[in-house]
Amino acid sequence: MDIKRIGIVGAGQMGNGIAHVCALAGYDVLLSDVRDEALSEALTQIGRNMDRQVSREKISQSDRDEAMERIGTTLKLTDLGPTDLIIEAATEREDIKNAIFAELVPVLKPETILTSNTSSISITRLASRTDRPERFMGFHFMNPVPIMQLVELIRGIATNEDTYNACQSVVTRLDKTSATAEDFPAFIVNRILMPMINEAVYTLYEGVGTVTSIDTSMKLGANHPMGPLELADFIGLDTCLAIMNVLHDGLADTKYRPCPLLTKYVEAGWLGRKTNRGFYDYRGDTPTPTR
Ligand code: NAD
Repeated sequence: MDIKRIGIVGAGQMGNGIAHVCALAGYDVLLSDVRDEALSEALTQIGRNMDRQVSREKISQSDRDEAMERIGTTLKLTDLGPTDLIIEAATEREDIKNAIFAELVPVLKPETILTSNTSSISITRLASRTDRPERFMGFHFMNPVPIMQLVELIRGIATNEDTYNACQSVVTRLDKTSATAEDFPAFIVNRILMPMINEAVYTLYEGVGTVTSIDTSMKLGANHPMGPLELADFIGLDTCLAIMNVLHDGLADTKYRPCPLLTKYVEAGWLGRKTNRGFYDYRGDTPTPTR
């Protein structure tokens, strides 16, 4: 199926990044949100991020201007009816996502593909609530979208081959690389990454190392560009905890038990960079370890 128009639901940090890369790849994009300020902030953010690409000579000024013109915004979800592909990137709550799909389905063309950017909710379960489980997939971008090369494509149990191939060709046109994952909790990247971060927190909790020695060890000893605790702060400790809980509940294996120290930081509201404090304190000029 020929995809020309993409509807994106949710204009937060993921939705605006997805709109950015789709518009640059030549797709017509319609971005929707329930909050007007989310839409105007998203356009400002996309413009700023594209300006940075222009100044680094990654794209030309006319690429930028044409891409910005291809992005429309709306507060009315049903305006997304005529699009060929929906990428839902709204708040990570199953009731919100189900309500979005319920409102969209009656106005969609029969061939429109529905996808979700969810990090943790079962694709099969989301699909089963719609009229088209065979044309439903997980389309999981990484943050920040314009920079990260990978997209995980997740097949639900009913997803058909045409849908998979259509999504795969969109990833190729975005100049990104896909990895295919089956629909099990946290898919591939987070299934591997989050237990490593959780283990780093256990290493801190048990006093095996300090924040600095743990991050230095993994940067210089395993050649990771960021230490696991620094990375946890970047992702958000609440997000890390939520994904560990998804793994723990979904796979019923104690090896995914969230570290009590991770829970403690979240209880304190020390969620990482977004609250200026996590495993590091970001309130000064240079981040300083909090333990
Ligand atoms: P966010 O909070 O930045 O943005 C969510 C947006 O959805 C908000 O602007 C909100 O107003 C909007 N929204 C809420 N209800 C809506 C509705 N009914 N209709 C339309 N818009 C609605 O969240 P985010 O970080 O962009 O995450 C969005 C999705 O992407 C989630 O499913 C998340 O799991 C997934 N994801 C996030 C990351 C990440 O690192 N943040 C990475 C990969 C995937």
